[in-house]
Amino acid sequence: MSDDDRRLWDGMLIHLRDQHRTMCRQWFSELEALGVYGGALNLRAQTPFHRDYLQKACAAAFNDAARSVSGRLLPVRFLGPDEHPEGKRAPLRPGTSTEPPRAEPGRAAPEIVVRPGISVSPARAVDRPAPPIRPDALTINPDNGFENFVVGPGNRLAHAAAIAVAANPGRAYNPFFIYGGVGLGKTHLLQAVCLDLVRNDSTLNLYYVSCEGFVTQFMDSVQNGLMNDFRHRFRDVDVLVIDDIHSLAQRDSTQEEFFHTFNSLFHAHKQIILSSDAPPEEIPELQSRLVSRFKWGLVAKIEPPSLETRVEIVKSKARLRGIALPDDVAFFIAQRVDTNIRELEGAITTLQMESSLDGRPIDLRLAEASLGGLASPASEPTIQVIMSLVTEFFRVRLTDLQSKRRQRSVAMPRQVCMYLARRNTRMSLQEIGGYFGGRDHTTVMHAVKIVDSRRAADPTFHLQLTELEERIRPARRPANIS
Ligand code: ADP
Ligand code: MG
Repeated sequence: MSDDDRRLWDGMLIHLRDQHRTMCRQWFSELEALGVYGGALNLRAQTPFHRDYLQKACAAAFNDAARSVSGRLLPVRFLGPDEHPEGKRAPLRPGTSTEPPRAEPGRAAPEIVVRPGISVSPARAVDRPAPPIRPDALTINPDNGFENFVVGPGNRLAHAAAIAVAANPGRAYNPFFIYGGVGLGKTHLLQAVCLDLVRNDSTLNLYYVSCEGFVTQFMDSVQNGLMNDFRHRFRDVDVLVIDDIHSLAQRDSTQEEFFHTFNSLFHAHKQIILSSDAPPEEIPELQSRLVSRFKWGLVAKIEPPSLETRVEIVKSKARLRGIALPDDVAFFIAQRVDTNIRELEGAITTLQMESSLDGRPIDLRLAEASLGGLASPASEPTIQVIMSLVTEFFRVRLTDLQSKRRQRSVAMPRQVCMYLARRNTRMSLQEIGGYFGGRDHTTVMHAVKIVDSRRAADPTFHLQLTELEERIRPARRPANIS
């Protein structure tokens, strides 16, 4: 690459980090700038996934950076690892380009054609025919690899199974069915498997599509008499990955078709991977033969992450964006956002923007100022408040609560603390146990049961608890135990 091109690319990286901070990723600096060819700056990505992702999510920002730094319309073209620039090598200096670029500022160059889904390596081009272009193939985010997936008690099984499936497609668990609430990492795990599968075998024929994509294509094919094409598209694959399969609910004819797609792939030992917001038996009006098939392999549930896991996820997300996030800030964010992990990312983005707008470092003060209004436990007592009220009420010491002592005089207040924490905070059983000498979740569950039944049977005890609850959170009624 020429010095001019090198300077252009260095300048673009600085521009992107300045102007598009929240979009920037650490791995941008690993893109290889090949120079200006055919009127476009060619950048080579590490994998086809990186290329597709850049094209989909970042093209406008890169074009903007190229224009700002070069001072002229210079579209950016993203290439996969095995692709080569097309067109004549052009000098960079303004006004000297032999082929004026045809792109509008802020829009992708018109000549860029990127195949959705998986691209082809030269090996495949020789050995096997290129896979057809697959409509609705979802873009895989290269950030969603296993290396960026934080493992915790809520997702350990799903993660282990995903690793096994990626290592042994069609053999370990087929189908592999992941379910859990919104924003808990189902799509991330699905994509991690896809990334690994293709990394291990670049000729693999993998189709990653949303359930909506399957449904729409099915309807279109029926309408246009193209069922043969449809069947080939979904059955001639090595791995079929369908996100949010619960959208098949109540669609009879599509379920019928999916049933046959499933059977065809399954009998050919092709891997099927599905995600859903509910377990198979709870997907409304899913035909029982599909329910049973979804359970043939492994059904793995993802539970909401514990506080510790959330802290690690926040750190991992910050690392990906090249942000140095102090531990206390990561903890602060993780404490404030406790359900949907997507909100954690939103909080990091807000913080990142505030920091760059004001030119302030990201620290606890900034976090408190900018995230203070987040759906927060402001009306939710902390476990420290609960513990201090309970110790005062029952006249025990904090160290007793945390000790291994089992005398009733200590065990009862300890159980009350666990009960109150469970009913009045959103902490997990495991987190609560952690505050009482590292007791496990079954101990906390047991404590909640004991206190519940004593409360029902003993009016004095009930009154004591009511009083404690009022002191803990005057404004709100206790939450239900789930
Ligand atoms: P779902 O598909 O279950 O609704 P996603 O997979 O889209 O959720 O996850 C939402 C966001 O949270 C994504 O940015 C994802 O990377 C992140 N995320 C979820 N779980 C984890 C985890 N265990 N480690 C790191 N990031 C996670
Ligand atoms: Mg999802």
